[in-house]
Amino acid sequence: MGPCRNFSIIAHIDHGKSTLADRSLTGTISKKPSGSNQQVLDKLKVERERGITVKAQTASMVYALKSQKYLLNLIDTPGHVDFSWEVSRSLAACQGALLLVDATQGVQAQSISVYHIAKERGLMVIPVLNKIDMPASQPARVILQLESMFGVDPVDVLQISAKTGQGVDAVLRAVIERIPPPSASAENPLKALLFDSHYDRYRGVISLVSIHDGVIRKGDKIASCHTRKKYEVQEVGVMYPEELPTASLRPGQVGYIACNMKESSEAHVGDTLYRVGAQVDPMPGFRPAKPMVYAGIFPVDTNDFIKLEESVKRLTLTDRSVSVQRESSSALGQGCRLGFLGTLHMDVFRQRLEDEYDANIIVTAPTVPYKVVYKDRTVIVSNPTEFPDLSDSSSGVKEVQEPVVKATIIVPEDHLGEMMELCFAHRAEDLDHRYLDAGATKSARIILTCTIPLSEIVTNFFDKLKSKSSGYASFDYEDAGYRRSDLSKMVFLLNGKPVDALALIVHRSGQQEVGRTWVKKLHKVIPRQLFEVPIQAAIGKQIIARETLKAMRADVTAGLYGGHYERKMKHLENQKESKRRMKRVGSVDLPQEAFFNILSTK
Ligand code: GDP
Ligand code: MG
Repeated sequence: MGPCRNFSIIAHIDHGKSTLADRSLTGTISKKPSGSNQQVLDKLKVERERGITVKAQTASMVYALKSQKYLLNLIDTPGHVDFSWEVSRSLAACQGALLLVDATQGVQAQSISVYHIAKERGLMVIPVLNKIDMPASQPARVILQLESMFGVDPVDVLQISAKTGQGVDAVLRAVIERIPPPSASAENPLKALLFDSHYDRYRGVISLVSIHDGVIRKGDKIASCHTRKKYEVQEVGVMYPEELPTASLRPGQVGYIACNMKESSEAHVGDTLYRVGAQVDPMPGFRPAKPMVYAGIFPVDTNDFIKLEESVKRLTLTDRSVSVQRESSSALGQGCRLGFLGTLHMDVFRQRLEDEYDANIIVTAPTVPYKVVYKDRTVIVSNPTEFPDLSDSSSGVKEVQEPVVKATIIVPEDHLGEMMELCFAHRAEDLDHRYLDAGATKSARIILTCTIPLSEIVTNFFDKLKSKSSGYASFDYEDAGYRRSDLSKMVFLLNGKPVDALALIVHRSGQQEVGRTWVKKLHKVIPRQLFEVPIQAAIGKQIIARETLKAMRADVTAGLYGGHYERKMKHLENQKESKRRMKRVGSVDLPQEAFFNILSTK
């Protein structure tokens, strides 16, 4: 194969990455019917359903320019803020990126963040306006934005419609002409960067690699810098866009290898693979992902724990940014405590567990990692049950801190007031704003920045932002460290006994509302018991909110009018079935489903 280019498409969500990826691939792959609207790159069920890209995918295509054939390796990147770790990971294998901007929407919050990630990595960025087929597109205005935000030269901006295919050819030409080829040499000893992997039932772990130096072939003996384990290469190939075996992978190429790796844990993202016997220095790996949102995951049927843990292991192989620990709860039994990059990330992981592993699970309320500062040490607490009771003077806690982020919101001028209100309601500080469009005459847009606690945005901040701006606001955030805060642990008591799986960490300003809302919710979903049950929210010894669950009558069959024998039997049978999944909290019997209902309603 001829020379190659490794590139990526980066964009704000919905600006057309997948459509463009698909369009370039179907244009070059004759096997695929170009009319099929199932996007080639969005493979996961959850991605097709939600129309978002979760995992970066890799695909190769051959493009001929001036009688020279080029191998173009496209690495699709996710668009959502939660997945920016995946974005920087996929960019490590590229020399250039297409910055795709919707010409009807203009520059949005994530256009800015992905642009900066690409620039930090030293990539050649090609600005591309998409959706110019739409009457609402405003190319001239968006070009001005690109000029003022990124210092782009207007003559460098390409204008396309990924949907109709107009201009797509020029994009592929620009990839060849403007993006430098990877600098690599076939003469140097093999150095391959492992940047992604997944598990295949028959062949074990399949790794995606980018070849920095040397050549890799079937039969080669290779080793990992990280684990020093040795493997024999069984198969190499390119993603075309499905796996297509080839004789070798050459310098600068991106492709897959299968080498009888048995355990998911052996494939380390960021690892360097080399030929056994050669001396190589490992390439700089990736910064490990930093989980920002934690939640406990428990099987609905406690007997399923082993199966759940195995599924979680398999799934984390394809998504290394998830951290896993065992957790046990007196109310929910054995489970796992997982750390995610954000709540969408968490939702997607949960849905994949359900879709791909047929798991029936309960997910506890999400928590961010807090810092609890003692005189002589600082402890990170990512599980509310481990948060100290600060009203107890013997706790020895000097202060607690919570993670904050720098948020960027882009919004039309007429919604600025509502956006500022929303930010203040969520404890934002350091609000600042400026115009995005230099000298726009109508509906100018504003960039609003502020510092906001992460815990405030992990719940439903994004939904509120969207609805208060009639869908016009876009949002992104980055880590901004920790800030001292007035937080406490709220526990919920059933008949005076705390339910560990329901503990929360709340800010003083939200105590009353949170306490009341949760107590009401519990009252609604907990079935009546043989006796009266007080449901309380407490902080330390102080009761914040209370509801009372009335007692029910002892004989459940008594209420069945007519009392047919069979119906009666059926009912007793049902009762037995739900007994099996009953949890006893103090003296209160709780069906596992009640937890499911409490935790799955917002
Ligand atoms: P992604 O989130 O960046 O991957 O965006 P998608 O490729 O999923 O596109 C988002 C939506 O915009 C889809 O409904 C596409 O059909 C639509 N779309 C993408 N490109 C174009 C285009 O050039 N013109 C028009 N009219 N619609 C487009
Ligand atoms: Mg997409």
